[in-house]
This record gives sequence, C-alpha cells and structure tokens, in this order.
Amino acid sequence: MSLNSLNAGAWLSIDLAAICDNWRLLKSMVASGNSAAVVKANAYGLGARPVAAALYCAGCRHFFVAHLAEGMDLRPTLPADAVVVVMHGLPPGAEPECLANGLVPVLNSSQQIAAWRQLAHSTGQTLAAVVQVDSGMARLGLSASELAQLSQDATAFQGIRVSHVMSHLACADEPQHPANRQQLARFEAARRVLPAAPATLANSSGIFLGADYHFDLARPGAALYGVAPVPGRPNPMKAVVRLQAKVIQTRTVRAGEGVGYSFSWVAPTDSRIATVSVGYADGYLRSLSGRGVAWLGEQALPLVGRVSMDTITVDVSALPEYAIQPGTLLDLIAPQYTVDAVAERAGTIGYEVLTSLGERYHRTYLPAD
Ligand SMILES: *Cc1c(COP(=O)(O)O)cnc(C)c1O
Repeated sequence: MSLNSLNAGAWLSIDLAAICDNWRLLKSMVASGNSAAVVKANAYGLGARPVAAALYCAGCRHFFVAHLAEGMDLRPTLPADAVVVVMHGLPPGAEPECLANGLVPVLNSSQQIAAWRQLAHSTGQTLAAVVQVDSGMARLGLSASELAQLSQDATAFQGIRVSHVMSHLACADEPQHPANRQQLARFEAARRVLPAAPATLANSSGIFLGADYHFDLARPGAALYGVAPVPGRPNPMKAVVRLQAKVIQTRTVRAGEGVGYSFSWVAPTDSRIATVSVGYADGYLRSLSGRGVAWLGEQALPLVGRVSMDTITVDVSALPEYAIQPGTLLDLIAPQYTVDAVAERAGTIGYEVLTSLGERYHRTYLPAD
C-alpha cells in the first residue's frame, strides 16, 4: 500500500542501526564469535529485505527463514556468499525448487533426508543441508528412533554436505528450567551419531544460557529486534521500533457518558478524549482495550474504551487542550514504552506485538551506519 507520510494514520520507524548493534552485541557474547540472524515472518514484521541487507553489511552471513517462499523472496536480494536457510524443511516435491533458488533446507525427517539425497544423486551434485534433531521440544526435527535408524545406515547422507546440525530450545527464556540441560545433553548425543558438522542451538534467550549452549552459530531473532531476551532481567538490547499514531479529533465528554463500542468505558468525570488513527486492523491488539497507554513525551495517557478496527480513544485530560490537537502524534511504542511493555499490557509476548504490526503504517527505516 502506498501512503505518503502526511496521509498516513500512523508512522512506524525501524532503526536498522539498532538492529545491527544488537546483532553485534549478541555475536560478541557467543563463544564461537559467530551469529546468524533469524528473519522469518518478514523479519518479525519489520521487513526481511531491508533488515537482512543491513545485517549483511554488518557482517552477518547466515539468514534463517521459516518458509521456502520466504527464502525465495529473500535470496535474490542478498550477495552470493549469504546463506539462506529454510527452517521448515521442504514439502515433498519442492526439493528442485529449493536447489534452483540457492536455498539451504533444514532436513527435519528421514523422509526429507532421503528426498534431498535423491536429488543430490540425480543431479550429480553434493548438496548442502542443515539437519535438525528434536532434542525435546517435539515440534520439528529427527526423532530419537529416526536418529537410531539413520546411524545404522552408512548411505543415509550420501551426496549431502551437512553444514550444521541444529536443534531448538523449548524453555530458553527460563534459565533455571531443567529442560535446558536435558535438551543440551540430547543434542550433544545426537551430534555424535550424525555426520561431523558445526552445530547451532541457541536462539536469543539461549545465548544468555551460557557458553555451553553457543556451539558454532547462534540463531537469534527477537533480541535483534529489541525484545528482552531474558524476561524479568534488564534488557541489554537497543530499542528498534517506534510507533506513532495521529490524533484525528478531540472532544469533551461529560461525566456519565460512554466512549466507543459497547460504552465499555464511561467517563467518571468530564474528560477530554482524543481519537487516534490506529486500530486492531493495524495490529494494535484489541486486547489493549482499556489497558493500552499512549505517550506524549513523558506523559502517559490511558487508552479508554475498546480498540476499534481503525481507531483508539485516549483520555488526554492530563494535558492542556493546546497540547493535543488533530495532527498531534502520540507514541504507542517508543524507547520509554517498549515492545515488551506493550506486550505485557496486551497479555502476550513482544514477538506477537512485532509480527502483528500492520500494513497501513507509513514505514521509515533509519539507516545503518
Ligand atoms: C524463531 C526461531 C529462532 C529465533 O528465536 P528467537 O527466540 O526469536 O531468538 C531460532 N531458531 C528456530 C528454530 C526458530 O524457530
């Protein structure tokens, strides 16, 4: 959708320099000194192409997407020495398309390994792949019984160059959770029966579990985009996103009058209400009804009533009338009011706040230096 900046109801600014700084910080923490970037779901809603281009310039060479289609979209925009890995593996029959597009699949099952091996055989090439083992999350990857069978089959990986052995942690954001150690042990055991290859385990939170979890390549996503990697601890990541929405009308409502759908808020006293041009169609979550907060500078302004499709209503009584006029921009996500703070209010996680960010925003990218 093309919207010029004046007509847009809300502005989203994405700080590519902050994303690169976050990547450098995470990379510096990783024992091997090497980190990929997870740019699935359009880089968590922030734009896979601009984000990956900026991170490539910062030195990143491994990019993980979820779907084959995401990889096909991203691959041609990056230089040849960038590696784009498709985490969901390949639907049967999609192998030639994956190869033709220069993508590296994650092989998640014996079936996927066999199909990739057959393609290697029929094309006479050695084909790169990441092999994922399920170390306990029960979502994707080779099961223990598949591993046992594969370890008996000397030809299983013929024609396949295993670039990395991979797994994913279920509870990395809970450092004390015993599942972390268990998954680590299972991952190490799986590596011993698979072809010798570098390993990748840690997502953002996993990096903060310590060097045992780092292996050869870290795989952060959320922390690159400013989400706190260890909930409840100070967030070392830089804020990346700023969302500002425009006041489109103001009015005074009298004590006892309702505001918005179902009158879910009734003014306790005479109140000044600003209608702001953002709603759940923009990914401003409806669960923020009566709970969200908008900001003008350091002044917090409570959202009152329901979040509608295209608008929210904010009680601006705390400020003098001249301060809030049609055209005034209020901060909805900002350094003083982070993605995580919004998520907590909405009863969700920063990941969902980011990936919900809508298409109607006027987007600007602050360039990486
Ligand atoms: C999404 C994802 C990541 C990145 O996780 P974050 O928590 O966002 O850092 C890493 N690995 C896999 C397999 C994923 O699905």
